[in-house]
Amino acid sequence: MAIHHREIHRIGSVAWLRAAVLGANDGIVSTASLVIGVAAAHAAHADVMVAGVAGLVAGAMSMAAGEYVSVCSQADTEKADIERERNELATDYAGETKELTGIYVKRGLSPDLARQVATQLMEHDALGAHARDELGITEAMSARPLLAALASAASFSVGAALPLMVAYMAAENNLIVLVAVTSLFFLALLGALAARAGGAGVLAGAMRVTFWGMMAMAATAAVGALFGTAM
Ligand SMILES: [Zn+2]
Repeated sequence: MAIHHREIHRIGSVAWLRAAVLGANDGIVSTASLVIGVAAAHAAHADVMVAGVAGLVAGAMSMAAGEYVSVCSQADTEKADIERERNELATDYAGETKELTGIYVKRGLSPDLARQVATQLMEHDALGAHARDELGITEAMSARPLLAALASAASFSVGAALPLMVAYMAAENNLIVLVAVTSLFFLALLGALAARAGGAGVLAGAMRVTFWGMMAMAATAAVGALFGTAM
């Protein structure tokens, strides 16, 4: 008889959604702040756009590089752990069976049943069973550096494109206000979305990211105005 799964597990998609939202948040905050700072220094509209586009490209590349390097080191650690596990299985199979049995007993199985499960799973795929149940490395969660880097650069770029589009369409005299207001709106929206996806409070999620976005834009506006008058 087929068993129908009713509850929805979010763990897999939430991780990706959270990374995408954080990337987009970075894109919005850093590009909107950059655009507002340059505009506050009384730069011409074309110069503001050049600075904004350069900020988008620089930010996307640094996010991709950072993500790639950090996920690569995670992949290296996983690979080294699996190699160590392979050696232990080759040199001490009985000890590894005992170890896996202990893991299942800790999870609530009776010692007899745990030994039976461990023995059968190891006969089927010893390395896979240890990787999954001892090291916590599963196919779904294993490190994919390139995919993570591309996803990170893409989400940053999408976030950065929002204030850039507003800056492009805005007239010079209300560019700062329009970029600030629309960017804070986008941030609140993304903050609420991320909070909702993670099952957390929507309002708190929205307010948290909006507050820091506001701080960042105010700081760059002040610096831009300072440099604008000094030059
Ligand atoms: Zn092991």
